[in-house]
Amino acid sequence: MTTFEELLRNNARFAATDVKDHQPAIPFVPHQQAYILTCIDPRVDPAQVFGLHLGDAIVARTVGGRVTPAVLQDLAWISYLHEVKTPEAEWFDLVVMHHTDCGSGLLADDELRRGFAARTGYDEAGLADLAVLDPAATVPGDVEKILAFPYASPRIRVTGLAYDLKTGVATVVVPAATARR
Ligand SMILES: [Zn+2]
Repeated sequence: MTTFEELLRNNARFAATDVKDHQPAIPFVPHQQAYILTCIDPRVDPAQVFGLHLGDAIVARTVGGRVTPAVLQDLAWISYLHEVKTPEAEWFDLVVMHHTDCGSGLLADDELRRGFAARTGYDEAGLADLAVLDPAATVPGDVEKILAFPYASPRIRVTGLAYDLKTGVATVVVPAATARR
């Protein structure tokens, strides 16, 4: 059986359960009012790390858990929807979590980064800025980008975490702050 066939088989099993019948009625307002941005690394699965279930949280994942223009655009959209469609509903706790031993750290390797930039045409300095070598050092800058983003709702609380792969512990680096606008 290929990986894909196994995924489909697992889906058939999932579809036969009733777990999907208990989802939030409003698609952009999850059960836990949580919005999590973290790395695409399979070892940093938010469902496992935070004990989330189907419908609990909005999850955005990028290389390194970095705040990219696409992440900000999505946040602007969710902020707008929330303000226009559900102004009475509770607002989000947005968590930005970087982690140790992150593959994005390889962007700090000059040879790898230059080779990738040469192949793709991506800006090399921009790539270097994405490297997470120490999560506690990089997460504050990304939290600040969100706090300063003009289309983030001022009712969203943003927290920055550093996750240690060895211990499984997520430590608060930037305490909850409210987006400015
Ligand atoms: Zn990573």
